[in-house]
Formats: sequence, C-alpha cells, structure tokens
Amino acid sequence: MSTKITFFPVGNGDMTLIELDDASQTKILIDMNIRESADDEANADYFDVSSELRNRLNNDSNGRPYVDVFLQTHPDQDHLRGLSKHFHLGAIDCYKEPKDGEQAKIIIQEIWSSPIVWRRADRRTGHTLCEDAKAFNTEAKRRVNLYKETQKIGEAGDRIRVIGKDEDNKTDGLEAILTEVDKTFTKINERETQMVEVFVLGPLQSKDIEEEDRLSKNHSSVILQFKIASRPYGAKTNRFLCGGDAEVAIWRKLWQKHRYDTHCLRYDILLSPHHCSWHSLSEDSWSRSKNPKVDQEAKSALSQAERYATVIASSNVIKDDDNDPPCWGAKKQYEAIAKNVDGEFVCTGTQDQEVIEITLTSGGPQKSPKLASNITFGAGLASGAKPKRHG
Ligand SMILES: [Zn+2]
Repeated sequence: MSTKITFFPVGNGDMTLIELDDASQTKILIDMNIRESADDEANADYFDVSSELRNRLNNDSNGRPYVDVFLQTHPDQDHLRGLSKHFHLGAIDCYKEPKDGEQAKIIIQEIWSSPIVWRRADRRTGHTLCEDAKAFNTEAKRRVNLYKETQKIGEAGDRIRVIGKDEDNKTDGLEAILTEVDKTFTKINERETQMVEVFVLGPLQSKDIEEEDRLSKNHSSVILQFKIASRPYGAKTNRFLCGGDAEVAIWRKLWQKHRYDTHCLRYDILLSPHHCSWHSLSEDSWSRSKNPKVDQEAKSALSQAERYATVIASSNVIKDDDNDPPCWGAKKQYEAIAKNVDGEFVCTGTQDQEVIEITLTSGGPQKSPKLASNITFGAGLASGAKPKRHG
C-alpha cells in the first residue's frame, strides 16, 4: 500500500480519508457525508461511498472494520451524515455483530473533536443539530466523561482528542487528552507513526464577547495542517490543509496571526473551505452584491500554496451562476492561486462520480489525481500516476 489521501464525491459535503503506509496501516477519516440514497442500490445517481470507504478499511483482531481516527470538523449534517447508520457508537462491549445482510458497523478507535466549535454551531443554528450530530455529541461526551472518571487514556473505541480549549475553563483537567491551538501533535490513536505532524490552527479562541459573537456567526471548524511522510521516518514532504467550513472572518484572523511566519498555512493540498464557498473569501454576498470583493487577508491565508499544489473542491459541479456553495467566483480565485504555482484545481463533483485519490511520495503529492478533463491547470510535472478509476 502507499500513503495517500482520498476525497470521496459526496456532493456539497466533506469526506476525506488519509491512509498511512506505516506498520498499522493507520486510517484517519475526516468528516463524512454518506447519504441515505448512496446506500440504496436502486438509486444509481449517488456514488456508493460507503463501499468505497469500507474497501479501504482493515478489520481489528475481532474482525470488525475500524478507523484509527475520525476527525469531526464541525457538526453540520454534510460533515456527519451516516454516522449512526454506519458507525458503532457507545462502549465497545455493546458492539452488535451484523445480522444476515447487514453491514458491520465501523469502530472509531479515536475521535478528534472541538467543544468550542460545537458551542458556536449551537448558537448559530439555535439548537437545531441534526440527529447524527446529537449522536456524535453523546459519544464524544461519553469518552470525555470516561477519561474524567478514570484519569486514564481510554482503550481503542473509548479514546478522544479534544482540539482547542473550551470557554470558561470547561476543558480544565483534560490536559492529557487536549491539544491547544498553535500546538503540534504527532500521536495518532496513541501511536507514534513517525509519519505525521499535525498543527492545530483552529478553532480560533475568542478574547471578548463581540469577537465571539462574530465567530459564532461564521461557520467555525477545526482547522489542521498535516505534514505527512510517505513512509515512517521519511521527510514530511506532503502538507495538507483542511478547515471544514471555516469562513472569511476565521481565515482573515489566521492571516493576521500568522502573516509573519506562514509555515503553518503552507500546503501542497488544500481542501477549499466550505465546499468552494465565496463566503470563505469575502464578506459580500456572491449573488446579491453588485461587485462582490475578495477579502485580501482571508485570500492570503488560503494562498500559501507550494509549487504544484492541488486545490480540491468537495462539492457539486461548479457552474457559472449565482449558486454558493459551490461558487463560480471562488473557483476562479482558487484556480488563480493554483495557476500561480503551476498547480491545479479539481472538484469532486463530476458526471463520472469518481474518488480523487492522491498518492503522497517523498517528492510530494503525485500529480494527476483526477481525470484530465476535470483538471483546470496542469502545467506542472510531466510525469504522474495515471488517474485511478473506480466504480
Ligand atoms: Zn459543509
């Protein structure tokens, strides 16, 4: 196997899998959007994302499929859909073996999640969390409470890494399972893989009420920069930046914070925030403003591309219209960013409904992750793996 990142075509939603070629063949799933109809064979419009995911997972010693980590960037449905149906929630002792014809539930050995993102989402939506979000919240709380009771890092299936401090000292006492913003961690599911360094850029902490109010109105998310080697002890030559649905105020703040040392914002692969939304790049409405302007600071934060970088839009097909997300204007911005570094912009939303699979090598990510027809700029490397077809 090789080390790779796979972006699944899940419409306007995120679902990304990082696979490491280490001894444990570590799998990190970032968000999920497994739509009901994707499970329904009669509906051929949806890509069978559940099978595509399951085909990539290993079984534990009891024959149960698992991911090492599930990172939940924020509790919107398009980042959590399918959780209860496809994943085991609750104590591992309560795992139910599948009956005939049922698919085995996937075990999440370790959760990464941020309480402050949940609090903001709750304020923004006025307590209208979807059922999968509620189920996730219950499971995250179960794991945190287990730690509080035992003061021990849990077993696989009970583990949680809390990303970012919560307000009002609510995360005090959780230091052993907490990673603060601006810190780096290297342990994945309680193992040193010697392949990954993760820097926590967000959720941003707020210093005062006004700022908190502002951040609450924007989509907030866990924002991470992964530095990944292709094999254990190799150089970490692949930088992947992902920030869920974080919006313009967040990216502007990140630029103000890191503009004099931009290392933590640099990327070879960027998952464009909020499904290629205009609102991650601008305060203006794409459809209602006469002349919507790009926020130059937010754009700078999202422009720290390495040579040959790939910008991914995890969204529906992007059309030249008023829609947002995905937004035509945002696509043009990301295309310009990519063109600047001889990189490329690709979108998961195509007629063919194929995964975008990028192999990570010692020389950086391999080019040509997607069919040539969907690549806007491809002036970079001459050699690259043939796009892998699925389905
Ligand atoms: Zn979203």
